Amino acid sequence: MAVSKVHPASAVAEAWAAGARDFGENYVQEWQRKAEDPALLARSGLRWSFIGHLQRNKVRHLLGRVDLIETVDSTRLAREISRRGASRGGSFAQKILLQVNLAGEEGKGGFHPDALRSAMSELTALPGVDVRGLMHIPPARRNPSETRVDHRALRTLRDGLEAAYPVGLPVLSMGMSSDFEVAIEEGATRVRVGTAVFGARPR
Ligand SMILES: *Cc1c(COP(=O)(O)O)cnc(C)c1O
Repeated sequence: MAVSKVHPASAVAEAWAAGARDFGENYVQEWQRKAEDPALLARSGLRWSFIGHLQRNKVRHLLGRVDLIETVDSTRLAREISRRGASRGGSFAQKILLQVNLAGEEGKGGFHPDALRSAMSELTALPGVDVRGLMHIPPARRNPSETRVDHRALRTLRDGLEAAYPVGLPVLSMGMSSDFEVAIEEGATRVRVGTAVFGARPR
């Protein structure tokens, strides 16, 4: 997935023309502007995912308009997506990933593994929501190859959850520009690559 935050719609159009189809955005308003840009509306197969911190009062803007909300970091947020998703009726289900904070870092979103295990039964039973897997942003490491242990730990957590609950979690979103190769070696099914696709983000 190409992470297009801060980059203009024209950059997304250029990446689409080169074959990219999945784009990740971090800010709801910025994404709305881009998604409605005439330069992007007619691009077939273009899918958006949300990868920023999401407040509950912004859920309604994303629901059904993004392929995947990757950053569901609390049961309260999942419940809000469920409430709104279920009220659409039919077979609608918003695809989500559960964000995990393996190292318990302060100021970084995500379920602690123990909290996730406790919440798993409720999360996977929520109507209007389709839990597809896990995502994480590992602690900053001096050398990208040091993130291998972090990615391996996320995959191990996923394997444990699949063994303990009647749930499939096929998606593992892990790895960014500096460490996506290592993440893929450890089982990533999605990598979130910004800088390596678009160049440095303008300040
Ligand atoms: C910005 C961002 C990325 C992309 O980071 P790069 O290092 O530019 O590849 C990936 N994931 C998340 C959650 C981001 O916010």
